[in-house]
Amino acid sequence: MAGWYETAFRHVLYPIYESGLRRRRTLAYLNEYRRNQWLAPEQIAALQWERLQRLLEHCEREVPFYQRRWRELGITSADIRNLDDYAQLPVLTKADIRAHADELTADSWRDRLQFKATGGSTGEPLRFGFTRESNDRRTAVMWRGYEWAGSRMGRRTLFLWGGAVGEPTRAHQFKDRLYNAAFARRVLNSFSMTEANMSSFADAIDAYRPDVIVAYVGPLVRLAQWLIATGRRIYRPQTIIGAAEALHEFQRQIIEQAFGCPAYNTYGCREFMLIAAECEQRDGLHVNADHLLVELRKPGSAASSHADDPHAAGTCTGEVVITDLFNYGMPFVRYVNGDVATATSSTCGCGRGLPLLRRVDGRVLDAIRTPAGHILPGEFFPHMLKDVAGLERFQVVQRRLDQLELVMVRGPGFDESSLAYIRREVAKVVGDSIELRCEFVDDIPLTPSGKLRVTVSQLPSSVA
Ligand SMILES: [Zn+2]
Repeated sequence: MAGWYETAFRHVLYPIYESGLRRRRTLAYLNEYRRNQWLAPEQIAALQWERLQRLLEHCEREVPFYQRRWRELGITSADIRNLDDYAQLPVLTKADIRAHADELTADSWRDRLQFKATGGSTGEPLRFGFTRESNDRRTAVMWRGYEWAGSRMGRRTLFLWGGAVGEPTRAHQFKDRLYNAAFARRVLNSFSMTEANMSSFADAIDAYRPDVIVAYVGPLVRLAQWLIATGRRIYRPQTIIGAAEALHEFQRQIIEQAFGCPAYNTYGCREFMLIAAECEQRDGLHVNADHLLVELRKPGSAASSHADDPHAAGTCTGEVVITDLFNYGMPFVRYVNGDVATATSSTCGCGRGLPLLRRVDGRVLDAIRTPAGHILPGEFFPHMLKDVAGLERFQVVQRRLDQLELVMVRGPGFDESSLAYIRREVAKVVGDSIELRCEFVDDIPLTPSGKLRVTVSQLPSSVA
């Protein structure tokens, strides 16, 4: 029998010890990023360039994928003398990563990577590796962005978020609870929201009295609409941070009216966490240019303009191309995440030197409805399907209230158990009130702007 202390240590003390250490490192990075934000735009550009050069040299030394690719192009890292040269390098796609994950792993990190999967909002699940430093830095960058919205580490924070899918183990659930308690946070599962149980979400907010609410935009707007329609008063947080999809102005107004506090727009994705966020001026989103390089590429062209070039005139719109300057384990050099954004050359009244995005488009995820009154945010599907092996692309279409069509492109790893898993997970949230039709196809057409719409609702607006 394992001693009780050993069990306690493994499940209780060690996670605390580890998060204590991790927290210290994350705090050191957070302090560094806090200082960087006030540098002049030129200084930030110089810092970014230095970090990019270091990354490229590392890729040349250690990452077989780039060694081969650059050799084929006849170039070395020394040939890349500025961002214009850099913009000539080929982009990295999800397909590249799926086909060459092993080759993209740096030699010295081969056995030390952590992994994460994403369903992304582009409907193509992806598994990728990252280093511990990269993870801690991402967390720090996220905190810096959340601080602009008035959040602070340790403040009571309520997440209206995606819940667990699959079967989390009891140890895992316990660790989650411990973590949430230690970090003063509570998570509400937005996937279980229905018209009928809205009041229980309002009750949970009243009971927890959060300073900060971080929420998927779709479910938050519906809760806000319900609060306004029913006249229900609710505990007033100090700030609300929208996540996972763009917060549009009309949605911001509804949320602010219902909750009586400012709501902030952020832009992130699972591959990099927070990419850009609004500061207290709420006049564009500051790009985390000391941590990432964000370029905007004209669709169909090789070259791109730099969101962080302070000399570019006016605004420019293009496909988002991102380089993570700190993931040395599996470096993403010029990764296309499928979003489209508009950058502006204007500076922000707050005085931060980080460049601005005017807006981000692209993550179009329609909510799905059921006869039982569920309103399932579009994020549910990428979140759930990211763990399905061999699923290359998918799209969910709702034409009737009682029916969902799941169209899939499957790869070698997909089998009967994958399908059973999908059916089980969907049934868990929507019950049997809705029929799930699964269909396999060779390809799923993109929208005219080159995006894959992951969830499409064609219900008439009187229903949807
Ligand atoms: Zn600002």
